[in-house]
Amino acid sequence: MTEWHEEGLYPDFRTRYKIDKVLYESSTEHQKMRLLEHPRLGKILTLDDVTQTTEKDEFIYHEMMTHVPILAHGAVRRVLIIGGGDGGILEEVLKHPGIEKATMVEIDAGVVEFSKRYLSEICKDAFEDPRTDLIIGDGYAFVGESPDKYDVVIVDSTDPEGPGEILFTREFYKRCKDRLNAGGVLVTQNGVPFMQAAELRSSAAHMRNFFADVSCYLATIPTYVGGAMAMGWATDNPDLRKVTVETLEARFTPLTLNSRYYTPEVHKGAFALPPYVSELL
Ligand code: SAM
Repeated sequence: MTEWHEEGLYPDFRTRYKIDKVLYESSTEHQKMRLLEHPRLGKILTLDDVTQTTEKDEFIYHEMMTHVPILAHGAVRRVLIIGGGDGGILEEVLKHPGIEKATMVEIDAGVVEFSKRYLSEICKDAFEDPRTDLIIGDGYAFVGESPDKYDVVIVDSTDPEGPGEILFTREFYKRCKDRLNAGGVLVTQNGVPFMQAAELRSSAAHMRNFFADVSCYLATIPTYVGGAMAMGWATDNPDLRKVTVETLEARFTPLTLNSRYYTPEVHKGAFALPPYVSELL
């Protein structure tokens, strides 16, 4: 009997994945975790039945959420990651030799332990890196209480349901601004505009209260269904979005990122928004 996993993000738009094996499932105090084996996608991590990341396409999202802000900025030393329990964002951030500290605030210790054990293809040894500062806690509380400052804040959250909901509020974005050094940049997991237009519109409106330059950039992740996905962008330095391909090349070429999606040209092109997306900003 073939088993199927039904994607639970949208009440009216269901996708199903044929499951070869349920590798693991458990519940933490925050959410239900499942690790599924798929013939084409490899391992799939779901939280509360919503796809978080898959072995075969995780590189797209994790490369674009990290290399775009870090290479646009050009002198990043400290990064704050909110969420990111699977370690994929952390792993990509740490590929940059200039990074001195990567603080990761994840609410669910179970996701980290689970990912270290079952998804090491994604996190590799990022959690053991001496530059990693892993904090188990609510990202919303952390950005409000910590006195620390960062050059880049990356919000790799679940969708605005459950524990992730508070990471899409006006107060949260204000607090993220308070955590940024001058000229720093906030990027956010901001959903698939074709499916979650209201989420992007709301995030952009909140961010505009605190940042001079608010936009987004796009990447197509096959398992975030419904078209291209938006990564929110907020900074007081509008020049970061105007960095030339030549400058990005000069920063990218000496590195060994081994990227399979990110290139300086893809970076630049990601900010070219179709009207159905730019009108939401
Ligand atoms: N890449 C995925 C996506 O785009 O949906 C998200 C990856 S990661 C698994 C999302 C993480 O956000 C989860 O580990 C979840 O526990 C964490 N999270 C949700 N709400 C949080 C909060 N308030 N503070 C910190 N982490 C949170």
